[in-house]
Amino acid sequence: MAGPVVALEGITRVFSLGDVEVHALRGVTLQVARGEFVAIMGSSGSGKSTLMNVVGCLDRPTAGRYLLDGVDVSRQSRAELARTRNKTIGFVFQSFNLLSRTSALENVELPLLYAGVGTRQRRARAAEALTRVGLGDRLEHLPNQLSGGQQQRVAIARALVTNPSLLLADEPTGALDTRTSEEVMSLLTGLRDLTVVLVTHEHDVAAWAQRVVTLRDGQILSDTQQTPFRLDPNRHEA
Ligand code: ADP
Ligand code: MG
Repeated sequence: MAGPVVALEGITRVFSLGDVEVHALRGVTLQVARGEFVAIMGSSGSGKSTLMNVVGCLDRPTAGRYLLDGVDVSRQSRAELARTRNKTIGFVFQSFNLLSRTSALENVELPLLYAGVGTRQRRARAAEALTRVGLGDRLEHLPNQLSGGQQQRVAIARALVTNPSLLLADEPTGALDTRTSEEVMSLLTGLRDLTVVLVTHEHDVAAWAQRVVTLRDGQILSDTQQTPFRLDPNRHEA
């Protein structure tokens, strides 16, 4: 499809707490093109999570229009949104959210199981996704037999296995040390043809993105293109 993956027009989100209204998003208009890697920044309470929930079809805006892959999802029912979400979006979280007594392969198979894909194809596609993130030799490992960085790579494989149009990552390096964060960001930014929206409060992480959108009080404060940080390809691993 030629148009943007994400097109938000005048999105607002108001939470009602008794007789108090919290305006978490106050008219956000934003487009994300196919293949773009966008970091969303902003201080605590600026609306990042609320925006991610709307973009991820976990929540509906109070007003405004949201076209995802050209489809107006802002008026979809919760059931329709769930289907859209499973089909179109991959999620990566700070806490990996892997099933602990379940192998890497089975963790990555899970979204395909929900999608009704047969066993043989499920195995093959999960193994392929794990190979894509450099874990082709760890298929049978359990999460506790993997390092934090490897666990996050399993979670990335799980997000990719359904071939989503959009990958959403909420503080994906929040639980990792600096070096492991760099490995994960290097992997995420190296995924070809993938559209990524990533939330972070760390400038070192946002530095990997092509574009940084900063929120303040539920509005876009700035939206800038930048030359993304990359690891020196000649760097020798210790
Ligand atoms: P951030 O992720 O940038 O820290 P949030 O999107 O979580 O910001 O929150 C934005 C504002 O909306 C805050 O004032 C927060 O208290 C409020 N808010 C978020 N979610 C809810 C909710 N479910 N109910 C009421 N207020 C909320
Ligand atoms: Mg948040």
